[in-house]
Parts: sequence; C-alpha cells; structure tokens
Amino acid sequence: MSIDDGFIATVGQTPLIRLRRLSEATGCEVLGKAEFLNPGGSVKDRAARAIVLAAERSGALVPGGTVVEGTAGNTGIGLAHVCNARGYRCVIVMPDNQSPEKYRLLSTLGAEVHTVAAVPYSNPNQYQKVAQRLAAHLSNAIWANQFDNTVNRQAHIDTTGPEIWAQTGGRIDAFTCAAGTGGTFAGVSHFLKSKRKAVRCVLADPPGSSLYEYVRSGTLKATGSGSITEGIGIGRVTANLEGAPIDAAVHIEDSETVGHLYRLLYEEGLFLGSTSGINVAAAARVAEELGPGHTVVTVLCDGGAKYQSRLFNREWLAQKGLAQCAPPPKRGEPIDVRLVMPA
Ligand code: PMP
Repeated sequence: MSIDDGFIATVGQTPLIRLRRLSEATGCEVLGKAEFLNPGGSVKDRAARAIVLAAERSGALVPGGTVVEGTAGNTGIGLAHVCNARGYRCVIVMPDNQSPEKYRLLSTLGAEVHTVAAVPYSNPNQYQKVAQRLAAHLSNAIWANQFDNTVNRQAHIDTTGPEIWAQTGGRIDAFTCAAGTGGTFAGVSHFLKSKRKAVRCVLADPPGSSLYEYVRSGTLKATGSGSITEGIGIGRVTANLEGAPIDAAVHIEDSETVGHLYRLLYEEGLFLGSTSGINVAAAARVAEELGPGHTVVTVLCDGGAKYQSRLFNREWLAQKGLAQCAPPPKRGEPIDVRLVMPA
C-alpha cells in the first residue's frame, strides 16, 4: 500500500529525471529534480509546507489564523494550497510585473491577492515590506517571510537534499541552481556538502542579479539588467543564503535560458518554466567543465503552463529580442484537414 495523507504528505519525493539529450551531448549524467511534479506545481511547495507547519508548532499560527506573504508567485501558490488544506486564510502581496496566469491562479485557489508596483527592495512599498506590515496590522496573522525565515532553507536540508543523495546513491559530483530566496540552493548545498565536501555547488545567476559578482569578487553588484526569468535573481544576501557553501557562480543570459527551455520541451518532452531553463543551462556548463563521466544534478522548479502568455508566446519573445532562441516545434508541413472531409 502506498497512500499519502492529503496535500501536506504529497509534497516532495519527486522523481529525478535523466535529461537524455544533455547527458548524451556531455557524456555526463545530467539529472533534473522534478519539482514541477509537486502537488502545488513547484519547488516552493516545500518551503510553504515547512513554514506553515513550523508556525503551527511554535504557536504563532492557530486555527482561524491568516498567512500573509510577499511573493513573485510560486510561494503564494504553495501557501494557498497549504492554507486550504489546513484551514487558514491566505493573503498574498505581489509585484505587478509577473505573468498574468499567476494572479489568476492565486485567486482561483482562494487567496486574497494584492498587487503593488514593482519597486526596488530599498523602497518601503516593496512587496515584501508591504506583506510584513500587513501581517503586523492584522490580528492572528503570520508573515511567512520566505526570504529571511530559515525554515525555508531547512526544508531543503531535511527533504530535497536527502532525496537527491538517496536517488543518486551518493554518486553526485555537482549541484547547480539559481536563487530566488536562496532556500533551495543553500539547503541542498548544505546537505550535500555534509555528505561529501567535494560535491561542487554552483550558483546560476540571471541578468540583473547581484550574486554572480558577489561570488566572483565579494561585491554585490548586478551583472546586466532585466531578465525574462521570474522568481529568481536577488540584490542581497538573504538569511537563507547566508553561509551557503558556494564553490562558483555562472551568469546565464536569457537567450541561453530560452534555448534550453524550448529544447527541453521539444526534445525531452518536458514543459517547464524559465528557472528550469537557467538551471539546465548551468548544469550543461558544469557538465562541460567537469568532462565526461560525472553526475550533475539541477532543479526543474515549475511547469510551463503559468508562462504561456510570455515565454511560450512567440510575439512576446520577439518583443524581448529572443524569438531566434526558440526553435519551432518539429511537426513538419501543416496538414490540410479538408482533404479528409466530404464536400
Ligand atoms: N524557481 C521558481 C519558479 C520560483 O518560483 C522560485 C522562488 N521564487 C525559485 C525558482 C527560487 O527558489 P528559492 O526561493 O528556493 O531560491
């Protein structure tokens, strides 16, 4: 018998998928942790579950309570599911520059969504700070605080890291992924290093984020500006990222991210969001650097459906100057259906 007790028990234990094309091209085992198969659809289900359960244990969250969070989307989606499953109200503050699908999905899930202007972190009306003040203002409410609440990282030390270690039988040479809060990267890296120090942990960083330069030179300074990726890239060292074992960082341009995403779709059968694209691009770089015979693990953070109006919309891609990075589907010449229809 194998039965999971509700949403909470269904988070995690995701498959580790061998990416066939990249593995063949590099002579390495390039493996993707299938976080898009979590019940709420992303890697953030793990942090959402851990944060709510920890708040229940500490007594901060009691029946009838409210969970407030500032999020670019997936943490809110995970929290909305967890709140439905545990009987809490969910209030989400989001910047106004995210995929339209995410706002709609959050409302469908029953969360109360508040959109605020996308402004820099230093601005008091930045979405995370609005969420913090809102939680303080409401009675019987907690602020999930995914960026600096280290329960987030701990969720990956307790679950994602051990799963990857067990699924590879400890045969893993490198791990790579990008950071939004840094919870996934830091938690998995901490765990893998505790098992074997030689596992190479490489941070993937998109344009506009300051972590590539931070790892390279110790200075928080953005490389490039603006990215089509959503939910990753930061300008500060969060509490979750603080002290993470980072061996190196790679800067990945959006053109490379989009190219990998479309190849994952048409050549691997995997329909994924932008952060999976950058993570796989980084895994390809690390595999090439290590040479054949190594095992490189990365994270397939969420599915592509939330991004159909952007990443998987060729007009939108063209506006971003990225259309040439997206190969067309391999379906041959269009068929004339009228040929098989009576006149
Ligand atoms: N990928 C996606 C699709 C996300 O939504 C997020 C979180 N915003 C991340 C990656 C980054 O994960 P983490 O917060 O653990 O760094």
